[in-house]
Amino acid sequence: SPSSARRSSIGSQKNDSHISGRVRVAVRIRPRNAEELIVDADFGDCVELQPELKRLRLRKNNWDCETYQFDEVFAETASQKRVYEVVAKPVVESVLEGYNGTVMAYGQTGTGKTFTLGRLGEEDSADRGIMVRAMEDILSDISPENDSVTVSYLQLYMETVQDLLAPERDNIPIVEDPKTGDVTLPGATLVPIIDHRSFVRLLQVGEANRFAANTKLNTESSRSHAILLVNVRKVGRAKPDREVVVLSENGNCVQVAKGNRVPTIRKSKLVIVDLAGSERVYKSGSEGHTLEEAKSINLSLTALGKCINALAENSPHVPTRDSKLTRILRDSFGGTARTSLIITIGPSPQHRGETASTIMFGQRAMKVENMVKLKEEFDYKGLCRRLESELDKLIVENER
Ligand code: ADP
Ligand code: MG
Repeated sequence: SPSSARRSSIGSQKNDSHISGRVRVAVRIRPRNAEELIVDADFGDCVELQPELKRLRLRKNNWDCETYQFDEVFAETASQKRVYEVVAKPVVESVLEGYNGTVMAYGQTGTGKTFTLGRLGEEDSADRGIMVRAMEDILSDISPENDSVTVSYLQLYMETVQDLLAPERDNIPIVEDPKTGDVTLPGATLVPIIDHRSFVRLLQVGEANRFAANTKLNTESSRSHAILLVNVRKVGRAKPDREVVVLSENGNCVQVAKGNRVPTIRKSKLVIVDLAGSERVYKSGSEGHTLEEAKSINLSLTALGKCINALAENSPHVPTRDSKLTRILRDSFGGTARTSLIITIGPSPQHRGETASTIMFGQRAMKVENMVKLKEEFDYKGLCRRLESELDKLIVENER
């Protein structure tokens, strides 16, 4: 039928297998901080990096090491620019081509997740993080007349989604389209981004609201997940693989032959997730958290770990619905998105245990395969409108 033809998505017809769907995992170690330089001065780091081999060796004891292979290994000297270019840029480029994309940071509190993703930096400064660099690339690619970029910024704390751009919206529902499986948060503020400055401003407002909300709740940002959603809408052109007949709004029948190019709309989404600290909350030693808080934070991260395990083992049951985090990230792991994970670790031998568990999380995530799919639909409505207006013009010219 005409309406089903209009709805048909190109991704399902086109072979996207040229893009590998495996989740990419990079490790980044942060430099020793002042305290570690002094207190651990006599001790070597708990890991040894072999960046040229993309390998990392975790010290088990004085004479034994375990070696792990990753997609990329960044030493403490790696620049923000290089981390962006290796970890995030390929994902951003896919999003601009019409694929969903995810960049996520996982690791113990204090290892550099927010530094890597959320660092604002001064204009053009070298320490700008992934969020601002991604938006720079997105804005330089889209055409303001035809395309659009909108952003939502959320915090997930104790299984509640809060809008960081409108603090009064403190319980945003997650909605899944039963047909497509697409997950949306329709209650969240959507801000159109027209220039880079407005985006930096948005991140600052979000950060201030996050701080205020967490002060009120007597918690720390390391206990919650920060989620930036960037929606990109672009117009394109593609050829349907079969003849299509469409009914226009004016009741005209429009026939599109097989090889003809038709306008398309690509709606893709970039999700950037700064996860809560991966350490067990009861071990964090800081005050002000309740047992309930500890359980709830562990719930989302534990559920994410379980989903990744299930996907890595090709298990038929993936418990996506067990937490809000895994529902929001449904397309990111085991879905249609291109996903890049950066795991962050510290050098201190004191945190060897947490570092080991972060490494294991990264190793399992490397086994997750997504079915990357183009989020593009033929814009038959737009085509009909254009044809009809051209027809009107011809008629007017004829009557003159
Ligand atoms: P997390 O978000 O994982 O809790 P942060 O990003 O807040 O950790 O980093 C903790 C501290 O370490 C911050 O002061 C940050 O500036 C510093 N830091 C983290 N990674 C790096 C790095 N690669 N180079 C320099 N400083 C870093
Ligand atoms: Mg942080």
